[in-house]
Amino acid sequence: MSVRHLLGVRRLDTIQIQELIEVSAEFRRRMKAGEALPQFPGKVAGLLFFEGSTRTRVSFERAAFALGIQVTNFTGQGSSMAKGETLRDTILTLRQELLDTIVVRHPSCGSPQLVADFFRRPVINAGDGEHEHPTQALGDALTILLRKGRIQGLTVAIVGDVMHSRVARSNAWLLSKLGAKVRFVGPNTLLPSNCALLPGEPYFKLSEGLEGADVVMCLRLQKERMAQGLLSSIGEYRRLYQVNERTLRPAAKDVIVMHPGPINRGVELDDATADGPRSVILDQVESAVYTRAAVLFWALGGDPDAVLDGATSVFEEAEA
Ligand code: ASP
Repeated sequence: MSVRHLLGVRRLDTIQIQELIEVSAEFRRRMKAGEALPQFPGKVAGLLFFEGSTRTRVSFERAAFALGIQVTNFTGQGSSMAKGETLRDTILTLRQELLDTIVVRHPSCGSPQLVADFFRRPVINAGDGEHEHPTQALGDALTILLRKGRIQGLTVAIVGDVMHSRVARSNAWLLSKLGAKVRFVGPNTLLPSNCALLPGEPYFKLSEGLEGADVVMCLRLQKERMAQGLLSSIGEYRRLYQVNERTLRPAAKDVIVMHPGPINRGVELDDATADGPRSVILDQVESAVYTRAAVLFWALGGDPDAVLDGATSVFEEAEA
């Protein structure tokens, strides 16, 4: 069996994506029913986070606990990387320390591939720069399926700082592979210049981008990745692109509102919408636990067929 890395969504085919979502849904059912998940005694996962994280790191830990996997945490600060050790040497060290899998978040696009090349055991990308965040997109797809009953044929508007967002890229790839129509909505300066290479249509006016949308996915303004001059002011951005009760009017009546967190409250999203009935933001957090369990299970050689034998398909359930 070849090593099972999850480095991005772009290279996954639809069948693989559906299978991971099905396993996530089945793990959700089992965890809610108090049933045990398959166990991996003696396995150790290294969580390497070179950027801040609340949701992703904790949900990987929570998922690992559910699978009986031990976790060791590693950050750049306080490690030998602060003394100048390279990423390559760090990974070779961790390989020698008998870790079974690595979950890595890093500010540089493509670094999980480098980790995979040296680690040669399963590597899971937990967000690399502006590139991809595959487990976020898998969890978001599960959230949409649970709320809307389908993904095929939905119009999904991804709003805001698409240029710097790995969440936008992974979701665009994943949701379009599952048959959604994706729109990128934002100012010209925050939509990628190579938008045509991504599976989505650009919209520069919020009202047009939200027209008839079934799902509105808000993005945080990623100030840490932003060159100066991309925005004239936060106030102007808020006035033209904030998702709120008023600007959501052109969207479908049963629109759901998503945000990967952390939210800049009052900037890309107002409080009433973030905390209101259309918001599925906290559901996204929960779905990601099941998804990360599914990905760890798969990466460590678990057999999806064995889990799904006799389970109800979340896709078929949705169609029924
Ligand atoms: N938490 C998400 C990420 O790590 C979104 C964000 O930071 O805005 O990409």
